[in-house]
Amino acid sequence: MREIVHLQTGQCGNQIGAKFWEVLSDEHGIQADGSYKGTSDSQLERINVYFNEAAGGKYVPRAVLVDLEPGTMDSIKAGPLGSLFRPDNFVFGQSGAGNNWAKGHYTEGAELVDSVLDVVRKEAEAVDCLQGFQITHSLGGGTGSGMGTLLISKIREEYPDRMMCTFSVVPSTKVSDTVVEPYNATLSIHQLVENSDETFCIDNEALYDICMKTLKINQPTFGDLNHLVSVVMSGVTTSLRFPGSLNSDLRKLAVNMVPFPRLHFFMAGFAPLTARQSQQYRPVSVPELVGQLFDAKNMMAATDPRQGRYLTVAAYWRGKVSMKEVDEAMYTMQTKNSQYFVEWIPNNIQSAHCDIPPRGLKMSATFVGNSTAIQVLFKRVADQFSAMFRRKAFLHWYTGEGMDELEFTEAESNLQDLVSEYEQYQNASAEEDIMYEDEELPMEEQ
Ligand code: GDP
Repeated sequence: MREIVHLQTGQCGNQIGAKFWEVLSDEHGIQADGSYKGTSDSQLERINVYFNEAAGGKYVPRAVLVDLEPGTMDSIKAGPLGSLFRPDNFVFGQSGAGNNWAKGHYTEGAELVDSVLDVVRKEAEAVDCLQGFQITHSLGGGTGSGMGTLLISKIREEYPDRMMCTFSVVPSTKVSDTVVEPYNATLSIHQLVENSDETFCIDNEALYDICMKTLKINQPTFGDLNHLVSVVMSGVTTSLRFPGSLNSDLRKLAVNMVPFPRLHFFMAGFAPLTARQSQQYRPVSVPELVGQLFDAKNMMAATDPRQGRYLTVAAYWRGKVSMKEVDEAMYTMQTKNSQYFVEWIPNNIQSAHCDIPPRGLKMSATFVGNSTAIQVLFKRVADQFSAMFRRKAFLHWYTGEGMDELEFTEAESNLQDLVSEYEQYQNASAEEDIMYEDEELPMEEQ
């Protein structure tokens, strides 16, 4: 078995994490008391990826829940799955991070980090063959962002050869009005570039737009946004949790999706999109789903893929789907839109299939794309960062926690470099390859 240790940090991290476990338990037939009451063998075949098997045949999430204040975790404990989690795996402080990355990373969070690592170690040592870690957090706050990235770097240090996957919520002014979020996000991205192997960018701006425009929800709540997050997290982990061969573990996913180590920031999408509590009201065809899957409106990142080019793409199909039909529809789509795929990575779209559909749907598809268009998100954050940093606005909150201004400068330039790298590969064409080949030919002949 290839097990994953899951961590959720901060308010957002815990809220989307709790949703993730609700969907996971439901899909694998795990009841609130940890017992199994399912319908298909494939629900249990790879259950150990995310759950530990405890005495009495109970299943317990391999989850560590972390926060610098008790509120969100109290609600999880009082919620529908409160008793499913291992009580020792709730690790929390009382001080809060006050939306300050420095408090999460260097002061308050640093004080709590060893207690978290003790729990992580316990989980990691108890498994058969650990594949890696996944973490849910927001980039705009203080705990998930500052302490989350501290945990990532500490875990990386201790488990350098295991995979690190993050579900990172990118801040948007449409959803939050905390002015320092671009600081927190930039400092976090600086860390994620080096210490994460794969990051799913979940953009609150896109979630908000999907709720407003596609689902027609006025004034969406976090509950509405998190429903979308849970749908996409369930989708992208399908291949890790159910039998199948494509991207069946975190490393295989990275090998297929990440052509250059720094460029591991994915956009995700889902089709068909439905609001919470509502069911799909009419059947959709495979070509229709393919159309929706590649539609900018369905992406959980506020960027149009047609502003960039795809390096790699994976699509996960669920339910009663003819894969022959899928392959044909995907092929047609790629041929018609070939200018949006880099031509120097042949076969850069892959499709996988799982029989079990998500609840409430007959068939669905989840999209994961490594697109150069993700730079639009980074530019959005970088511009907001620079506007404030130029005047050193709000900086004293960070230096007051002992942070050096230099770290801000470095984070800013790392983010700008990342944007330039995406641009460079966006513009790289096969013609340049021919030039490279010409130059290298004599060497090869020798
Ligand atoms: P922390 O507890 O210090 O990590 O701070 P938060 O997680 O509250 O971070 C604030 C950022 O997260 C802002 O950008 C919020 O819009 C976002 N956020 C907070 N809670 C949620 C949530 O439940 N769902 C989503 N999608 N975003 C959230």
